[in-house]
This record gives sequence, structure tokens and C-alpha cells, in this order.
Amino acid sequence: MIYDVIIIGGGPAGLSAALYFGRGLKRALIIDEDKPRNIVTHETHSYLTQDRVTPQTFRKRAREDALKYEGNTLLNDRVTAIQQHNDGFIVQTPAGQFQSKQVLVASGLIEQLPAIKNIEHYYGQSVFYCPWCDGWEMRSKKLAVINPDERVLHMVMLLSNWTNQLEVFTDGHDDLTKESKKVLEDKNIPYHLEKIDEMSGEKGQLKAIRMAGGETVEVEVAFTYVHWNTNYEFLSGLDVEWDENNRFVLSQFGETSVKGLYVAGEAKDNFGSQLIAAAANGGEVAGFMMTGQIQEAFNKEV
Ligand SMILES: Cc1cc2nc3c(=O)[nH]c(=O)nc-3n(C[C@H](O)[C@H](O)[C@H](O)COP(=O)(O)OP(=O)(O)OC[C@H]3O[C@@H](n4cnc5c(N)ncnc54)[C@H](O)[C@@H]3O)c2cc1C
Repeated sequence: MIYDVIIIGGGPAGLSAALYFGRGLKRALIIDEDKPRNIVTHETHSYLTQDRVTPQTFRKRAREDALKYEGNTLLNDRVTAIQQHNDGFIVQTPAGQFQSKQVLVASGLIEQLPAIKNIEHYYGQSVFYCPWCDGWEMRSKKLAVINPDERVLHMVMLLSNWTNQLEVFTDGHDDLTKESKKVLEDKNIPYHLEKIDEMSGEKGQLKAIRMAGGETVEVEVAFTYVHWNTNYEFLSGLDVEWDENNRFVLSQFGETSVKGLYVAGEAKDNFGSQLIAAAANGGEVAGFMMTGQIQEAFNKEV
């Protein structure tokens, strides 16, 4: 069987695309390893009609919507390789090989936390990166802003919307300009240039940050920098073009330099966004992909 499309990733981008494909009478295989980035949190925020549901509930509902349509099939598996074959693709997983006319990469971001001891115990519960996602819950709390470079000033500015108890940690870097330091000083925001040694707390609740020199600062919440990339190993067999910021080079319709290979959701920008943006983009790109397929069929029939 040749699927119209194989969707790699069953997050909001992939499932929203699947919903569109299902309603477009297409056969879509969604291959999802089911490791969404936000699984570390207890609640998802800011998605209209789904505000404050758990990530698991969000996924369950999204899957139910997509799988209502008989053309859609979900496989819980990991894509390990893709090859071009005739005018389409062969997608490889440990379970086997699957063939399709088009492929949509909706595999999100590969996320890497800074090398701070114990950070993983608090990430998603009292350590976050996105003020729009989790700022409201953290309002009025004593908040650490962790970022090694000048972007820390931008985060401080944003987070000042939710609390006036801010404290900056550059994690061993001294890249702040004199002007930035003066802004922090004028606003009575303490800053620490030392390397962070360890986070400590209890049951996911951050309580303190200890610096390499031994000083400990009590905080309730932290907003930290993280590293992202979309350089998935499974793409290595394709001649995919990337720009200087490690983003896919894409057409306005979300198509990569490889004909028939599209990208949607956070993978598109190589930057963290939000559930609603990923879902919207998944649907939009699915529409463009189907238009291509429908047009080809229509032209053949003439
Ligand atoms: C701590 C935290 C809190 C957040 N809170 C919020 C919030 O409150 N509100 C909000 O709007 N957003 C929030 N986000 C952001 C949100 O999670 C993302 O914007 C959203 O998940 C991106 O959707 P996506 O479909 O692009 O990718 P994802 O949701 O990450 O889905 C990608 C899917 O692809 C799968 N996959 C990857 N590689 C493969 C492969 N090789 N084979 C098969 N499957 C694969 C993954 O397992 C995953 O299931 C938060 C993120 C984090 C980390």
C-alpha cells in the first residue's frame, strides 16, 4: 500500500495535519514515538478550549479527532531513516518499511537543557523557558532568570510583567554590556556571573540555586535558556538544504529542497513556539500538500 502521506510526529502539528488529510479523503500514516517536548509539565496553557488540561489529555483528544477519519492510521514507532523512491519515499522504522507519495516532518525539536545539576527534576514544574506558556502560574514569585548572554535582558523585561522579584544568573559567563548591568542595577535586580553548580528543592519544587563558589540563593521558580535543534538522524539520507541558523530552507508552502518532503510545527523554525501555533501550521501545510496532490490528479485526468 502506498500512503498519500507519512506524517512523522503526532504532536499538535502532526495530528492537526492528519485531521486535514483525513477530511481531505487522503490516506495518512502518522508515525509517532510519543515523546512530546511538554510531557514534563502537568498542564498545557493558552490553547483555546484546552487551557489547563494535561499534556496527555490534550494528545488523547487530538488523536481522537484525527483518527475519526478512516484514511488515518497511527503507528507508535520511531522513524529511523527516509529514502527517496520513484516519485515518493520509503520510511523506515524498527517495525518495517512504509511507502508514501509525500512526507511531512512534524517531529518537533530536540531539546537540551543547560548542564546544571538536578535541573531535570524541576523542568516543567518550577523551571520553564516560555513566559507565555507558564508565566501566569509563576506570577508574584521569586524568580531566577538564567541565560548566559545579552538575551537575559529581554527575558528580564518580559518576566517583569509577572513578578517584581527577579534575580539574574549568567551561569559562568560575563557577556553583559556595561549598559545592561546598569539597567539591572538601576532596577535593583541582583545578577550573578558565577557558574551555577546545582539546583535544589523538593518534589519538583525548586527552592535554591547554588553557585560554584558555594553561595546559595533562594528562589521559587526559574526561567532558563535551553538548546534546540531539528537535525534528526533520520533525515541524513536525504539532500536537505539548511540555512546558516540550522533551519530548513523552505518554500512558502513548507516544502524543503527535497520535492515532496514538507516540514510543520516547531521543526519548521528550529525554535520553541506554542501548541496552538504548531497545530495551526500543521493544518496549513497539510492544505498546501493536498493542493499539490489534487492538482496533479486533476491535471492527469484532463
Ligand atoms: C516545559 C514545557 C512547557 C510547555 N508549556 C506549554 C504551554 O503551556 N502551552 C503551549 O502552547 N506550549 C507549551 N509548550 C510548547 C509545546 O510543547 C510545543 O510548542 C509543541 O509541543 C510543539 O508541537 P510539535 O507538534 O511541533 O512538536 P511535539 O509536540 O514535540 O511533537 C513531536 C512528536 O514527534 C515525535 N517524534 C520525534 N522524532 C520522531 C521520530 N524519529 N519518529 C517518530 N516520532 C518522532 C515526538 O516523540 C513527538 O511526539 C511547552 C514546552 C515545554 C518544554
